[in-house]
Amino acid sequence: MSERILSKRFDLADSHTIGVYEATGGYATARRVLQELTPAQVTDEVKKSNLRGRGGAGFPTGLKWSFIPKDTDRPVYLCVNADESEPGTFKDRHIMEKDPHLLLEGIIISAFAIGCHQAYIYIRGEYIPQIRRLRAAIQEAYGRGCLGRRVFGSGFDLEVAVYTGAGAYICGEETALLESLEGKKGYPRLKPPFPAVVGLYGCPTIINNVETLANVPAILEKGGDWYAAVGAHRSGGTRLFGVSGHVIRPGVYERPMGYSLKQLIFEDAGGILDGRALKAVIPGGSSVPVLRADEIDIALDFESVATAGSMLGSAGVIVMHDGTCMVRALQRLIHFYKDESCGQCSPCREGTGWLLKIINRIIRGDGRPEDVAVMRDVAEGILGNTICPLGDAAAMPVISFVTKFRDEFEHYIRHKRSAVPAPVK
Ligand code: SF4
Repeated sequence: MSERILSKRFDLADSHTIGVYEATGGYATARRVLQELTPAQVTDEVKKSNLRGRGGAGFPTGLKWSFIPKDTDRPVYLCVNADESEPGTFKDRHIMEKDPHLLLEGIIISAFAIGCHQAYIYIRGEYIPQIRRLRAAIQEAYGRGCLGRRVFGSGFDLEVAVYTGAGAYICGEETALLESLEGKKGYPRLKPPFPAVVGLYGCPTIINNVETLANVPAILEKGGDWYAAVGAHRSGGTRLFGVSGHVIRPGVYERPMGYSLKQLIFEDAGGILDGRALKAVIPGGSSVPVLRADEIDIALDFESVATAGSMLGSAGVIVMHDGTCMVRALQRLIHFYKDESCGQCSPCREGTGWLLKIINRIIRGDGRPEDVAVMRDVAEGILGNTICPLGDAAAMPVISFVTKFRDEFEHYIRHKRSAVPAPVK
């Protein structure tokens, strides 16, 4: 059995309660950290651990924290990105539902490290059970002196509040999240300045994903070197892989960084449904390039997946068998990104619209011979030319789908129907 850092309480009865959390060693690390360590020592330990952001970008967490200006006279904020909305991604919800105190302990230690006394959890509005669990856990934590004035009897104060989003995918982008938290429309901001310098209400702000923060207690308990050794290369620790699509046992699997993608699909998730053959895998949430079946013999860490031409992203592994029509699958994705574009910059606003029009006409039977090349061209025009990463998120699947499954797109245009006998609806 591989190391379980995040999911070790998931199977316990009442794992969401403070009673179970404390009985299984919870809050002991935060208590010790506040008594014995300095904020700089905490940050150093997290740097040593090679913990990288679990929201998608994979930025080194300790390094991000160190960007907070030293000796600032402004309040410092910690914003927890719990706006999990990337298609194929459903791992943060498990932490918030099954072990919300683990997240709170991570918040306490991280807030202490960056000098923050007010943290916000920005959570996806549709996550009703998780919102309830979090609110109940926060109340329990206040009741036991884990939050509020003089946390654990130390000289450190910390308030935590939950803020619910209103259903926009773009608010998972960190600067759109800040705008939304300030009560404005969720429009991403131009960077620089980066949030660590000018963030919430113009103050230094760190935005970390739920899974990222939930790793922090284990790092401070067992040490950064231990955590780094659990993973591979420059990717420390474990990952919660959300496996969905055409597998026998879809679900969330905690495995070490560097774990085999093949093993995850064919052993842990039970292999492909209905005895069919594997066709394609999206390894890191819908916005990363797709891999063909012959490209999946890879290790799941940031570096190895990048070498294979994709991204580990949010570790949402979407599996497609040979009954999948790649043209229709891409249509779904484009429709999503077109719908979720905030419309602020023209390459994304217009480009996603053009892509949707083209793929819709291909599926209607009105495709033109030049459509595959035009789609690629439009996507390349979006890539790297937008305010926020949603543009890239929309462009990358298009480029990889039409390149790796070009014959299917050409077949659809030529024959006015799918190359796959029974398209999966
Ligand atoms: Fe909005 Fe898209 Fe531009 Fe991001 S890339 S700011 S979502 S229009």
